[in-house]
Amino acid sequence: MKKLIIIILLFAAVNFTGVGQRKIVNLPDLPGYVTLKCDFHLHTVFSDGNVWPTVRVDEAWRDGLDAISITDHLEYTPKKDFIPVDHNAAWKIAENYARDRNLILVHGTEITRNMPPGHFNALFIQDASLIAVDSVWDAFAAAIKQGAFLQWNHPGWRSQEPDGIPKLYDMHRKLLQNKWLHGIEFFNDSEYYPLVMTFCKQYNLTVIANSDNHGVISEKYKEPAYTNRPMTLAFAKARTHDALKEAMFAGRTLAYFKDMLAGKEEYAKPFFYQCISVGKPYYENEKSIYFEIVNRSDVPFYLINGVPESPASITLPANSITRVVVSRKAALPLVYDVKNIITGEDEVLKVELTFK
Ligand code: ZN
Repeated sequence: MKKLIIIILLFAAVNFTGVGQRKIVNLPDLPGYVTLKCDFHLHTVFSDGNVWPTVRVDEAWRDGLDAISITDHLEYTPKKDFIPVDHNAAWKIAENYARDRNLILVHGTEITRNMPPGHFNALFIQDASLIAVDSVWDAFAAAIKQGAFLQWNHPGWRSQEPDGIPKLYDMHRKLLQNKWLHGIEFFNDSEYYPLVMTFCKQYNLTVIANSDNHGVISEKYKEPAYTNRPMTLAFAKARTHDALKEAMFAGRTLAYFKDMLAGKEEYAKPFFYQCISVGKPYYENEKSIYFEIVNRSDVPFYLINGVPESPASITLPANSITRVVVSRKAALPLVYDVKNIITGEDEVLKVELTFK
C-alpha cells in the first residue's frame, strides 16, 4: 500500500513539475531582433486535416517553433457529419493550450476558392465566422476589417496552375492596388515557387514558408528526405504575438526549408553573417593561408563561384567548423555566391569572407 502511494505521488510530482523536451533549432537572431520560427498554415479535423488542434501545438512545440496558426478551410468541411462546423473551434480549443506551452498561437483561417484567386490565409484575425461569406471579395474585405494579414497560399500549386508557375490575375492586381495582400508562400508543403521572389520585390510582399500540413508533421518531414519542416523566420522586436504581427506586416522574414533560405537580401545577408564567422589565419606560409570558418546554424551553406586562385566552392556544413586553405595569390576578401540562399527568381546571395 505504502509503495502504491509513493508511486502515485511520484506520478503526481511529474505532472505538477511538467515534462517534455523540445528541439533547439539553431538559427541566429538578427541584431535588434529575435528570430521567431513560425508555421502559418496548418489544418485540423475542423476542415480536411486529420488531427485535433492541440496536436498542432504539441508538434510545433517539440519541433522548436515559436508560433503557429491553425488555418482550417472556411468553405471545405468534409468531416461535418461527425464534427460540428465552427470556424473558430481550433482557435478556442488551442488558445490556452498554446499559452501554457509558451507557443504563440495566431488566430487564422483559410479562404478557399478556385484559381483565380486561389487560396488565402487570413492571419491575426478575431472571428473567422465573419469571413465565411459567399463573395470572395467580401471575404477579403471582412478579413481586412479585422486587421488581417492576408497571405496568398501555394500560388503555383499544380492542381490550380498545371504548369506550376504563379500568375497574377485581375483579382490579385485588385488586392495589390488596395494594399490588401501582405504575404505570399515561397515554400508550401514540399514545393517552392521561384517567381514568388519577383512578386515579393515588385509588390513588397512578405516571403513565407509553411507546411500546409493535413496529417502528422513527423510522418511527413523526416530524415533523410527532410532535415526540417518549412518555417517562416520572422525577425521580431520581441517574442510576443504583437511583435510577430508587426514583423510580418513589415516584411522582416526569411523562408526556410530543405536546407534553403529565401528572402530579401536585406535580411538574408545579415542572417548569413550571424550564422558564420571567419577566424583569423592560424598558419601561413609563402604559398598559402590557413583559416577556419564556423557555421553555428542548422543550415548548411554551399559557397560557389569562387574567383581564380581561391577554392572554386566551399561547403560549410551545419553546426560545424570548416578548414580552408587559400593561395596567397587569391584576391581578398574572398567573394562567393551562396547557392542555397535565394534572393531573387534567378539570384542567390553574394557574400564576402573577411578574416577577423
Ligand atoms: Zn491550406
